[in-house]
Amino acid sequence: MDTSDLTAALAARLDIQHFSPLQPLDLQHLGWPNPANIKVYVKRDDLLHPVVSGNKWRKLSALLGALSTLPTHIVSFGGGYSNHLHALGYVCQRLRIRFTAIVRGHYQHHLTPTLQDIAAWGGELEFVDKLVYRQRNEPAYLAALQVRFGDALIIPEGGSAPAALAGMQQLVAELPAGITHLLCPVASGATLAGLAKAAPAGCQVQGIAVLKGRDYLQQLVTELAGPQTPSWHIEHAYHHGGYAKASPQLRQFCQTFNAHSQIPVEPVYSGKLFFALCEKITQSAFAAGSQVVALHTGGLQGARN
Ligand SMILES: *Cc1c(COP(=O)(O)O)cnc(C)c1O
Repeated sequence: MDTSDLTAALAARLDIQHFSPLQPLDLQHLGWPNPANIKVYVKRDDLLHPVVSGNKWRKLSALLGALSTLPTHIVSFGGGYSNHLHALGYVCQRLRIRFTAIVRGHYQHHLTPTLQDIAAWGGELEFVDKLVYRQRNEPAYLAALQVRFGDALIIPEGGSAPAALAGMQQLVAELPAGITHLLCPVASGATLAGLAKAAPAGCQVQGIAVLKGRDYLQQLVTELAGPQTPSWHIEHAYHHGGYAKASPQLRQFCQTFNAHSQIPVEPVYSGKLFFALCEKITQSAFAAGSQVVALHTGGLQGARN
């Protein structure tokens, strides 16, 4: 079996949809001015599965699909609301893989809904402070973890290992021809890097930064995508104060968008994406004749408090 067969087999075992729908966005109904009269679609990766966050599955399916056998134990990293840890916790329970989540912050006396789910699925939670968490990508720290956890597979924060990028090839293959712009939110950069590598010539890939740190994000994506992948760009004006921060305008926008589009969004990722999309369309940032796809990456579980 090649990687995509393995990925398909895993998705079937987990009842995860193999394709996500592409849905036109009715700008007139939303009341967004559309001076350049462009077409906009939403790629609904939020509909891939009710529990597993869409873009986390795209990454994880490629990571696991590239292995010859499934691991018996997985270790990974994230915050208290992490969509990645949540997705992984669910997948590990369903595949009977032992799971250890190394969590940034001491949540043991007040588990978030995300962490409660992971614990209920049998995941082991290990809480570390900021200083330890900061070492999560350092070779010496990872080597020590590997010794401690034997033959466990250690997956980086966000699932953003280089092998995860291939998951975005499948996504791009699901799109019709003629798409001129593909937009996604950017945190660890792997989704954007994977899309940029997979996008056909003539399709511009634009990331909306959901956190502060222009140089940091540019560098992450450059490293992941490689120097030969020129067709991407990050917009840094829409983080609304930083990661998981929201301005009153963003909150208002999310409420209105939820109500009028019937597409659920949250303020951490998809809200910032659609806010940026709305502003760019209104400002005629896309030329007449453009066909724009906004990738809804999922992530609604993280918005529970
Ligand atoms: C993690 C996440 C992202 C960011 O993807 P990166 O590959 O880390 O840039 C976007 N949307 C949602 C819902 C996520 O959970």
